[in-house]
This record gives sequence, structure tokens and C-alpha cells, in this order.
Amino acid sequence: MSGNVSMEKIVSLCKRRGFVFPSSEIYGGLASCWDYGPFGVELKRNIKDAWWRTIVQERDDVLGLETSIMMHPKIWEASGHIDSFTDPLVECKSCHLRWRTEELRDEKCPKCGGELTEPRMFNLMFRTFMGPVEDEASTIYLRPETAQGMFVNFENAVTISRKKLPLGIAQIGKSFRNEITPGNFVFRTREFEHMEVEYFVKPGDDKHWFDYWVKERFNWYIDLGIKKENLRLRQHGRDELAHYAKDCYDIEYLFPMGWAELEGIANRGDYDLTQHAKFSGKDLSFYDNDSGQHYIPYIIEPSAGVERSFLAFLIDSYREEVVEGEKRVVLSLHPSLTPIKVAVLPLSRNEKLTPLAKEIYGQLRSSFTTYYDDSQSIGRRYRRQDEIGSLFCVTIDFESLEDHQVTIRDRDSLAQIRVPIEELEKTLRAKLSGEPFDASPLWATRQK
Ligand code: ATP
Repeated sequence: MSGNVSMEKIVSLCKRRGFVFPSSEIYGGLASCWDYGPFGVELKRNIKDAWWRTIVQERDDVLGLETSIMMHPKIWEASGHIDSFTDPLVECKSCHLRWRTEELRDEKCPKCGGELTEPRMFNLMFRTFMGPVEDEASTIYLRPETAQGMFVNFENAVTISRKKLPLGIAQIGKSFRNEITPGNFVFRTREFEHMEVEYFVKPGDDKHWFDYWVKERFNWYIDLGIKKENLRLRQHGRDELAHYAKDCYDIEYLFPMGWAELEGIANRGDYDLTQHAKFSGKDLSFYDNDSGQHYIPYIIEPSAGVERSFLAFLIDSYREEVVEGEKRVVLSLHPSLTPIKVAVLPLSRNEKLTPLAKEIYGQLRSSFTTYYDDSQSIGRRYRRQDEIGSLFCVTIDFESLEDHQVTIRDRDSLAQIRVPIEELEKTLRAKLSGEPFDASPLWATRQK
């Protein structure tokens, strides 16, 4: 096991606390497909929102886009996916398990030691038919990446933008790959979400913008709380580069199974627009007003996976510690990512406490993602909130009925302060934007 937590612990916490469930569970599950429960959905949304904010909303050179999953089949010819989006696959003659040749260390089956077949190329795209007739002409593909939808919208983006390069297009959406060996929980699945930017630049400026995006994307994870020592950059060797790529870096994370790709940043040269111009018959060159030249822009592509980020954020924030002789598990997720900002917990389910607790819950929920819990003992509820990563617990006790004050407990420092109810929202807002509790919250200090 690398890092400080095993995958089993993460999978178990995800199931126990409603982050991720096996898909189709009552039917025995469907291999490598997962459903996201209430807290998993929130975490995923927060990751996507954080990405969208930095990539689209806080910049004026990147436009947001959402393209169709099903696209003209010629797109996949032009992109090279029909011919070369393949993995060499071998099958064990004894146990019939299939393997990607890339993951084999010797010539025998890793599971049973059996003899393997010769490799054959396996296309990773899911095929289906559009319309009632199932023939070659109606064959379409579920997209294996969102990128192509952006390349084919380049003209539209230029038309509605300020018509200057560099210009980026960004999108978040589902992709599908018929992976031969999915696994490691949500790390490799057949259905997942991409967060991709296609950044169009003038040829010659590509090296500068490539270096820029590698740095930007690396720092994005750090800014959201991933520990620096668990993140590294790895440049692709010449033999490893995709045929179209001029350069490529992977941002790798130290997952429990070892270092593995979290995001790839590629300099794709002019390959994509050249190919789409050729196959569509449209001129996709760009007219540069400043130089009076026409050219095919180069593309820098940062391509990240939502689920892999989700997994990395969970692993990185997982902590076990002993507090007053008791073990506590806590997800110390960054405040902007954590599913629940405020949990409202009456000391007990009591007819005197409930109305005030519900009133406070009602007031807070329009400002923060808030959760109400009055089942079981307060100690158990604190533990549950720690495991979900809830930033603050607001406790209403019998004294609250007298003095109109409640207790705020901070997830990271475990500091508790008592505040008047009328100042609760203001105080929570200040704490949420980083104002220290008694002791500085860990997420603020760990970045220094
Ligand atoms: P790998 O080498 O792990 O198969 P890749 O290099 O094919 O990944 P890209 O095509 O560069 O991946 O996609 C960009 C990102 O999309 C990856 O860094 C990863 O976060 C995510 N991704 C790719 N394939 C999958 C998958 N099958 N399941 C979950 N996420 C994926």
C-alpha cells in the first residue's frame, strides 16, 4: 500500500457513508460500474464546480461548451479513433481472463499462470446504432473523450469570441471506454466524466502555453488541498507519445496501488484541426488580424477525470487519529469541496429542542449545504459527520433555549465556540472563508 490508506478502507467508507455504491447492487452488481450516493454526488459536483470556476468563470480566454455524446461517425475516422483507439488484448487459454499486454510482466497469465493467446487489437469505443435499422450505415459511437466535440466547434467559438488567440474551449461530460481491465474502484471504469480544455494557440507559442498549463493544472490540485508529496509530473518518453502529440506530461498521484495518472496535458500540434478540415472539407484555418496570416492553430489539451480526482481527494484527505482515547476517522476535505458545510445537531431528539434546531436548520440551508441529524447519540453523530468531512457541527442543547446560543465545532481543530444564534450565520461564513477558529484549521495551515 502506498500513501497512508488502503483502497479497501476508502471503498468501505464510501459505501458506509453514502458516497459510492456498486451499480445494480440488488442484481449482484455490474462490473466496474458505480452509483454515487448523496455525499458522493455533492463531492463530485463540487470538484466540477471548482474546475469550471477556475477554467471558465475566472478567465476571459476560455469559453464553456456542452456537446452531444453521440456525434457524426466521420468524426471518429478523422480523429483516428476508429483505426487506432485500441489496446492489444490477450486471453488466458486456461481461465479465459483477458489482459492488456501493457500490464503483463511475463508471458503467463498473472492469475493462474496459464498460456496466453497472441495479442489482438481491441477497439475501446462502444458502438451502437442510431435509428431502427442495425447496419453499418447507422453505426455510431459513444464518445471516448469530450475533446472532439470541441475541435469541431472551433469555428463557432471563434465567431462568438473576441477572435484572438489564445482561445480555449472547455467542457465537462461523460465519456465511455470499453476498458479491457477496469478496476481499482472508480480509478478505471467504462463510463466516467472528463473535464477537458482545448486551448488554441499560434504555432510557435505552443511551448510557452504548454508549460503554462502544466503548471496551472498541477497547482489546481495543490490549491484544493492535495499534499505536494503525493503529486508529481511525468513527461512521456518519445516511444510513449500518442502519434499526434508533440509533448505530454502526466500529473500523477500516489494512489494506494502506486503512482498513476490523474490528468494528462498534451501539446497536440495542428493534428486535430488539420484532420477535421480534411474529413469535413471545411477550411479550419484561423485568420490572424495582427499578422495578417492564415494558419492552423496548435492545441494544448489539459484532460482530467472527475472520478480519479474524486478518488485522489478522498484518499488525500483521509485521516485516522485518536482523540480522548477514541479512534476518529476524518475526511479533511477542502472547504470548497467537502459535501456538507454545516451539520445541525440537536443534543437529542427532544420535543423542546427540535423546533429550535429545525428553525436554525431552515435558516442556514439557504446559505450553506446543510445537513440535519438527530438520530443516535451526539458522539456517534460527530463521528458520522467527521467521516463525511462536514466542516462545522452546530449543536443545540438545553441551554440554547435559555441563552439563545449554540455551539460550533470545527472538524479539523476540534475547537468549539459558543455563539449567539443571531450571529451564527455570519460566524459560519467567516470561518468558511478561512478565519481561524481557536487553532488554525488544518486546511489553512497545510498550504503554508
Ligand atoms: P490511462 O493511461 O489511465 O488509460 P489515458 O491516458 O488513456 O488514461 P486520457 O485519454 O489522457 O487517459 O484521459 C484523461 C483523463 O481521463 C485521465 O487522466 C483520467 O483521469 C481520466 N480517464 C481516462 N480513462 C479513464 C477511465 N477508464 N476511467 C476513469 N477515468 C479515466
